[in-house]
Amino acid sequence: MAATVIDGKAFAGTVREKVAAHVERIKAEAGVTPGLAVVLVGEDPASQVYVRSKGKQTAEAGMNSFEHKLDADTSEADLLAVVDQLNNDPAVHGILVQLPLPDHLDSDLVINSIDPAKDVDGFHISNVGLLGTGQKSMVPCTPLGCLMMLRDHHGSLSGMNAVVIGRSNIVGKPMAQLLLNDSCTVTIAHSRTADLPGVVRQADIVVAAVGRPEMVPGDWIKPGATVIDVGINRLDAPEKGEGKTRLVGDVDYDSCAAVAGAITPVPGGVGPMTIACLLANTVTACCRANGLEEPEGLTA
Ligand code: NAD
Repeated sequence: MAATVIDGKAFAGTVREKVAAHVERIKAEAGVTPGLAVVLVGEDPASQVYVRSKGKQTAEAGMNSFEHKLDADTSEADLLAVVDQLNNDPAVHGILVQLPLPDHLDSDLVINSIDPAKDVDGFHISNVGLLGTGQKSMVPCTPLGCLMMLRDHHGSLSGMNAVVIGRSNIVGKPMAQLLLNDSCTVTIAHSRTADLPGVVRQADIVVAAVGRPEMVPGDWIKPGATVIDVGINRLDAPEKGEGKTRLVGDVDYDSCAAVAGAITPVPGGVGPMTIACLLANTVTACCRANGLEEPEGLTA
């Protein structure tokens, strides 16, 4: 039987609707408008696209969007001063410093200078620690989006075998932590894992976050497993015309979809959930800052 396609684009739409409804509630209950500040240093084209998209979706959800565009040669002291100003601005409930930063800037230092309560990317060391100990935290957006889709599809994840391929701080590790907090038995696989196909074949849930186009073939997938493809890889597509490209994930979609029980496509799977979760985190941060009830279903 063909796999169920988990439609991340549609799911992200429902998350954004919930966010917008909570924004209205917060405005009515507390007279506060949730605000998200995005700091972009330099002119990386992909980052510019993300930042534009984040600003647009923030405004569409009824929130305030603040953009701070800084020159590529901005000094660390100047960047830290901007973060400090945002930390102390009561109109700002979420702060996101767009990564990657130019090489002369220390990303860890900058991220850890953000007020953890406003760290809507969930990368601050305090939030990493809180998540790791099962406490209330700000959760990284991409893994949070994956978790929401998994919970929506399965209900309870308790007792399932989950394999996360990739151990990055922004996707693999927090994803594994979230699955563990939901009582999965979790394996983190990576570039040095022995017998990766054998490890993946044990999984009821596979999350691929590697950055290698179509690396996971269908014969690694246990029949009926759920496959979440985080990868975003751009390949040349001369068949679409000169200079054209197409997006593919980290799994080979056709062969995996033939075996899996459910699968996320690329594009239209995990990608749209990431910004939706950023908006959700901003609403959560605003509620916490104002002592308001937190939105149900929008956090881990
Ligand atoms: P990363 O480069 O930081 O980490 C990749 C991980 O893959 C590493 O831990 C490495 O050990 C592992 N790896 C590399 N080669 C491997 C191999 N041959 N076998 C097993 N593991 C291997 O990447 P990242 O930031 O975690 O991103 C991963 C992918 O997810 C990328 O394609 C990225 O574009 C995508 N991504 C998507 C979103 C989204 O919104 N959908 C967000 C973040 C990242």
